[in-house]
Amino acid sequence: MSIKKKPKFPKSNQIGNILLAIAGAILIGNWVIPELTKPKIPRVPYSFFIKQVEDGQVQAVLVGDNEIRYQLKPQGDNPPQVFATTPVFDLELPKRLEDKGVDFAAPPPPKNAWFRTLLNWVIPPLILVAAFQFFMKRDPQGSISLNKSKAKVYVEGESEKITFEDVAGVEEAKAELAEVVDFLKNPQRFTEIGARIPKGLLLVGPPGTGKTLMAKAVAGEAGVPFFSISASEFVELFVGTGAARVRDLFEQAKKKAPCIIFIDELDAIGKSRSGGGGFQSGSSDEREQTLNQLLTEMDGFGVGDETVIVLAATNRPEALDAALLRPGRFDRQVLVDRPDLAGRRAILGIYAKRVKLGEDVDLEAIATRTPGFGGADLANLVNEAALLAARNHRKTVAQQDFYEAIERVVAGLEKRSRVLSDKEKKIVAYHEVGHAMVGALMPGGGKVAKISIVPRGVGALGYTLRMPTEDRFLMDEGEFREQIATLLGGRAAEEIVFDRVTNGASDDLRRATNLAERMVITYGMSQVLGPLAYEQGGKPNFLGTGDGNLRRPMSEKTAEAIDSEVKEIVETAHRQAIDILKTNRELLDEIALKVLATEVIEGEELQQLLDRVQKPA
Ligand code: ADP
Ligand code: MG
Ligand code: ZN
Repeated sequence: MSIKKKPKFPKSNQIGNILLAIAGAILIGNWVIPELTKPKIPRVPYSFFIKQVEDGQVQAVLVGDNEIRYQLKPQGDNPPQVFATTPVFDLELPKRLEDKGVDFAAPPPPKNAWFRTLLNWVIPPLILVAAFQFFMKRDPQGSISLNKSKAKVYVEGESEKITFEDVAGVEEAKAELAEVVDFLKNPQRFTEIGARIPKGLLLVGPPGTGKTLMAKAVAGEAGVPFFSISASEFVELFVGTGAARVRDLFEQAKKKAPCIIFIDELDAIGKSRSGGGGFQSGSSDEREQTLNQLLTEMDGFGVGDETVIVLAATNRPEALDAALLRPGRFDRQVLVDRPDLAGRRAILGIYAKRVKLGEDVDLEAIATRTPGFGGADLANLVNEAALLAARNHRKTVAQQDFYEAIERVVAGLEKRSRVLSDKEKKIVAYHEVGHAMVGALMPGGGKVAKISIVPRGVGALGYTLRMPTEDRFLMDEGEFREQIATLLGGRAAEEIVFDRVTNGASDDLRRATNLAERMVITYGMSQVLGPLAYEQGGKPNFLGTGDGNLRRPMSEKTAEAIDSEVKEIVETAHRQAIDILKTNRELLDEIALKVLATEVIEGEELQQLLDRVQKPA
């Protein structure tokens, strides 16, 4: 698919820009630069000047309206000093100067004074006004609103058409959108029966799961024009144009019906107006006008009208204004979630076709290792693997390339260049082995697959790679507790071995505490507090992002109870981690030494070592 009509910056705006630049240049050249480069003459109080006159030290004076400059009589070989002072109303001044025999005069008028005045004070404002007029000028015929709405139009039958074949792993969303394609292809079939064609569909899901891609695929499948615009483009410099853009967009779309309007990143204009979110930006008025216009337009086209379907995408549905979600607007919401195992396998299939695969490549195994990856991550993964193969001068991409690429994507690029001191290395080694050994006994739904003390990315000095044993959506209380213990394993090892702790565990501690708090306030897993949700009410944060730590209003006693319960959970896990490591102290040393020697332990070797971890008595 390609852009049919390239949106151009309107010509008039370009002229406006040039005029603005000229005005700016004149101002800078005539005012700012001289002001900055003016030689600095020391300023003295007027009284001091008079005193010097009376003392007969002054040789000559220039009396200006705003400034008096004077020169002292030369002393020895030094060049005469020059001072400036601000005049006060002093009728006596000429007489005093005369009495002391000082030369004085008014400063000569600057050359071309009238011209400078003109340049400084008359022309720039004129240019500013002209520039402003150019900016504000509407198209004379009001015709090509494409320029104004900046929407990109994709039309059927052009190169690189995107279809549903290019999207995988989001089957439910696909099914729902297939229905939309049907509407667009045969609107009569639906309207004849009296069915109302939905106006708005909201694609909701985390970033990189293929929302934008799907919207394009709908247009590709239906073979209709596709107006695409990002909501942030609506909100622009001058108040009022956001709303105007929305109006233009819909006007044009109606002319081309049946067609699709796609508004990406809808939350940029559709944020809740109740404003519970805290800070108020200066553009909130503008946003509101734009939003209102959008609502009006969506209400405006109705039964029997042209078939214009509005698709929108957002990854923050909870932030949207409720008015947007009412019937007749975006009343259908389609969840575009991260793909499951089969979905990841299918997406990998799409992208693997575009590179040359080695014989040993097992996409199934790669899919198993990439829970949590979205479509964009997987596309990126395949590309990374291909880059690795090319860098190693191989003709095809091998399984090993994929594994390495996974780690890259997961943990950031390997940074061997970063040097740790021997002591730091030792601490990191024990820390990571601590995680691994506790994780061996308390897996919490995962399995330790690798220990590494090769620093990677920002912050992480070493890492222990835990692979989930299967795709999990539900975890029980025991597993949460095990995860917390594993998180604390690193710090526990530092305590046991070095008898002191470093700051290296801060991220572990934060995650452990968050997990414990969520167990108590969100999942109702505390015996003491019972199955209540103490979290700030409202919609569940289905993206799983954010810490979800906002507690709802509660009594002080409850808050204290929660705190002590969270503390209890974390401390119990900490004790368990310490117990495990103390029981296996020799093994801890043995594995840590191995890691120090090789920097990385994984696979069979690691499993055999971890199998020897004993349960504490
Ligand atoms: P979103 O709009 O949800 O943030 P995009 O649609 O922009 O994500 O996805 C970015 C890129 O990732 C797409 O261009 C595509 O190459 C790839 N991608 C994402 N999701 C999928 C998917 N489900 N199937 C195939 N490719 C995908
Ligand atoms: Mg997108
Ligand atoms: Zn750690």
